[in-house]
Amino acid sequence: MRLALSLLALVCLPLSVRAQDQLLQRDDVKKALAYIEASHEKTLASQVTIAEIPAPTFHEGERAKYMATEFRRVGLSRVEIDKQGNVLGWRDGDMKDTFVLAAHLDIAFEPGVSTKVRKEGARWFGPGLRDDSRGLAALLAIAEAMNQAKLKTRQTILFVANVGEEGLGDLNGIRYLFKEGPYRANLREFISMDQSDPASIVTGGTGVKRYLVTVRGPGGHSYAAFGRPNAIHTAGRVIDQLADMEVPKNPKTTFNVGRISGGTSVNAIAEECSFEVDLRSDDPGMLDKIELKLLEAVRVGVEAENKARAESKMSVKAETKVIGDRPAGRTPDSNSLVQAALWAAKATGHTPELAFSSTDSNLPISLGVPAVTMGSGGKYGDQHSRTEWYEPENAWKGTQSVLLTILRFDSGVR
Ligand SMILES: [Zn+2]
Repeated sequence: MRLALSLLALVCLPLSVRAQDQLLQRDDVKKALAYIEASHEKTLASQVTIAEIPAPTFHEGERAKYMATEFRRVGLSRVEIDKQGNVLGWRDGDMKDTFVLAAHLDIAFEPGVSTKVRKEGARWFGPGLRDDSRGLAALLAIAEAMNQAKLKTRQTILFVANVGEEGLGDLNGIRYLFKEGPYRANLREFISMDQSDPASIVTGGTGVKRYLVTVRGPGGHSYAAFGRPNAIHTAGRVIDQLADMEVPKNPKTTFNVGRISGGTSVNAIAEECSFEVDLRSDDPGMLDKIELKLLEAVRVGVEAENKARAESKMSVKAETKVIGDRPAGRTPDSNSLVQAALWAAKATGHTPELAFSSTDSNLPISLGVPAVTMGSGGKYGDQHSRTEWYEPENAWKGTQSVLLTILRFDSGVR
């Protein structure tokens, strides 16, 4: 019975599965995969070199220059740094249709941060060492492996080391590439390497909306002018409401007041207070909902402060400004890019899962361009903190998985 079943399975094997297996049997593919494995130490060294070049968001220039040199070294053609600061390098296929493979240049740290990398046992430490120096090093490893193995693809592949993924960068690098850049008309698919776990394939873009809320009031002496509305007190009233906001676990929805500033002295009624709010949800409708709640909390907070200090006949006002907007969305599970990524993860020995995150893929997804964010290998933790760490064991498998995803997808392109 068992035999019959498996025979049946064999007979019914869809054509695509056989084609996938053929892909793994191809000499050039084997050669490229072997090259990635053999270059493990080299890729790690390149990751460390990249990580040590500081690249806070809006200050990616030095790292971009380095990547441009590296893009030329690994044999990419027509290497350039575009108007936005993205580094582009091409590997031409038979078609003009272009598959974009990207990793981001910027790190989520302020200028002046020490990016020195250190090692303790099997663990390496450095701000941005995984996020996203691993992705950048993997870009080089993949381009080099493809050239060494003389791999040919139908689609053209555009390698991109992009700016502006983190924080207030608000995806400005990938946004430019897809919405304004000179090559936008030919860009068909997108992979961002911005994870490490090859088993986690991000197909859903968590939506993010960020606000700067600024409260302004009359100010005055804390004792002599007591009774006037206070900008910091107002901010407190708003934040208090936010802190109690109820959000669903599923779709995952979050809020955070991450930075606050204001006031001039302990004995002055604060004239100004501003704070930054980060709202996220895997569901666009839910994101709209909590955005409205934030705006309502601001209105209620201002009203409460002005009411409490009505006798002064003075008032505070609040201004809200959007400082970040990353659209939510999802590449359908049935899309051939997602299917290729799942297959590649399995082919490299992983048990893949589809996930949600906020990454550069949000942008192409919002434009209807199939996009996934993949891990280029290794383990990591403490992302966006100075104690960010990375463990490179078997990291090459993640890089192989990304290359196989491209090749698998490409083999199905007509
Ligand atoms: Zn990242």
